[in-house]
Amino acid sequence: MSYSEARYDRVEVPEEPPEIRVRGFDEVLHSYTKEEAIMEASRCLQCALPFCVEACPIAQDCRGYIGLVAGGQFDAAAHLTLRENPLATTLCKVCYHYCEDACIMRHRGVPIAIRHIKRAAMEFGNDQLAYVPSAPRNRRIAVIGAGPAGLMAAWELGLRGYGVTVFEKLKVVGGQAEAIPHYRMPGSELLQDLDRFKELDITFMPGTRGGVDVTPEGLLAEGYKAVYLAVGASKPGSPGIPGENLPGVIYALDFLLDVNEGRIAPLGKKIVVVGGGDVAVDSVRSALRLSPGADVSMVYRRTREEAPAGEEEIRETEPEGIHLYWLLSPLRVLGTDHVEGVEFEKNELSAPDASGRRSVVPIPGATQLLDCDTVIMAIGQKADLTGFSPDLKLKIGSKGWPEGIHPDTMTGVEGVFASGGRSVVHAMAAGTRAAESIEAWLAKKEGRAPIPRPDPFGAPVPPPTVPEGYSGPVWKP
Ligand SMILES: Cc1cc2nc3c(=O)[nH]c(=O)nc-3n(C[C@H](O)[C@H](O)[C@H](O)COP(=O)(O)OP(=O)(O)OC[C@H]3O[C@@H](n4cnc5c(N)ncnc54)[C@H](O)[C@@H]3O)c2cc1C
Ligand code: SF4
Ligand code: SF4
Repeated sequence: MSYSEARYDRVEVPEEPPEIRVRGFDEVLHSYTKEEAIMEASRCLQCALPFCVEACPIAQDCRGYIGLVAGGQFDAAAHLTLRENPLATTLCKVCYHYCEDACIMRHRGVPIAIRHIKRAAMEFGNDQLAYVPSAPRNRRIAVIGAGPAGLMAAWELGLRGYGVTVFEKLKVVGGQAEAIPHYRMPGSELLQDLDRFKELDITFMPGTRGGVDVTPEGLLAEGYKAVYLAVGASKPGSPGIPGENLPGVIYALDFLLDVNEGRIAPLGKKIVVVGGGDVAVDSVRSALRLSPGADVSMVYRRTREEAPAGEEEIRETEPEGIHLYWLLSPLRVLGTDHVEGVEFEKNELSAPDASGRRSVVPIPGATQLLDCDTVIMAIGQKADLTGFSPDLKLKIGSKGWPEGIHPDTMTGVEGVFASGGRSVVHAMAAGTRAAESIEAWLAKKEGRAPIPRPDPFGAPVPPPTVPEGYSGPVWKP
């Protein structure tokens, strides 16, 4: 199929209408039928140079699984997907689909619904596959933090035959992915993914806090061959303004985790969410669902175009009845024994500097008051490094998670590595890189070549492939 013959309109992803979806936490997006998935996959040009694959942080062969779905081969598509992507059931619901932003079809129409086709592969194909470890290496590696980065590193090392112990401070594994609202991901997806890990020698130690119950140096002394610190950014950032500790002010990450655990009390009737990222959007949409009929707003200090949340995510808010305010920064939270409002400073943007970036400039004396009884602060997270030794010399990136100081992510302590990622799939890519660095470092110490990732299914059978010369079936409406 050539570019000019292609169909440019996407097979619509079935979606709950706004007036229904705001009534609860039921999933908003629904699956394609088999026929719809085949039709949408058939739009793919099977590009010789697939920008989609190049744009995926874990280099998932999405062109391959799309081609298999287009041919109705759902089992093979699931198999191909799971070879590179051990958290595919999770990602087919929540990945920010960087592949679609790069898809060539974007230039003439709508990019292929790559993430939704992955969902069809997982739902209609056989996803009940178990990963198979290589022969045991009789060496254990410690991972601190069971978010996507830690889980991916555990998978990579487990496949190579290492024993892995994952220490997690919370009672649940999954990291920030556990805070994703159920209307986007109902909740059992990560467990379905982890079920495929059962043959790997991975032990989870929930409720164990790195830096307090165990330390990287202590784990090395105990005999662990290396430690991967994948603690993410789990502590909410605070704006440092008067009144921020008043009752009625809550922090987004804790709020969303509590909502998913069913621990949240009803909120007030006027709710203001401060922030403009994806976490702010998740908070404001969750607040609306928890408090039917409440007046719910999201307030960000820059413009809509510059908000860190994706346009797709922001677009979902307005039909649900959420008010959006731009160019306002919080000055103080008002109230005596409970929140009564927030005073904001009005901003404008400066002319672009040499790099093209426009800074936020407060307009002298210009303020705006929003009455409210609940404030949700969603202004970013930072790492909680309580108890970790300064010898690690951890570097903290702009998004808050700790990184090693060396190019291979090793920290200031030999054998301890650290990294994280700004999305689930970026964190998974970081986990892969850390596992490869650990393997390379151990191999050098032991005077051998590093072991590449073995076939995850331990099978001598070659992976499924799209037939040679295949360039996409002709569209059949
Ligand atoms: C509300 C919300 C919605 C999101 N939605 C999406 C989305 O739709 N799509 C997407 O791709 N990304 C999304 N993200 C971002 C994504 O979840 C993160 O980028 C990703 O989880 C980062 O992975 P990580 O492993 O680096 O860190 P984390 O996920 O933060 O995991 C770190 C883990 O370490 C644990 N930990 C921390 N300190 C210690 C310690 N001292 N000892 C032991 N354990 C410790 C934490 O409890 C946590 O389990 C969302 C994030 C949030 C908060
Ligand atoms: S993991 Fe995400 S970026 Fe990669 S192919 Fe799947 S949807 Fe696209
Ligand atoms: S059409 Fe899009 S999805 Fe298909 S191979 Fe090309 S870039 Fe990838």
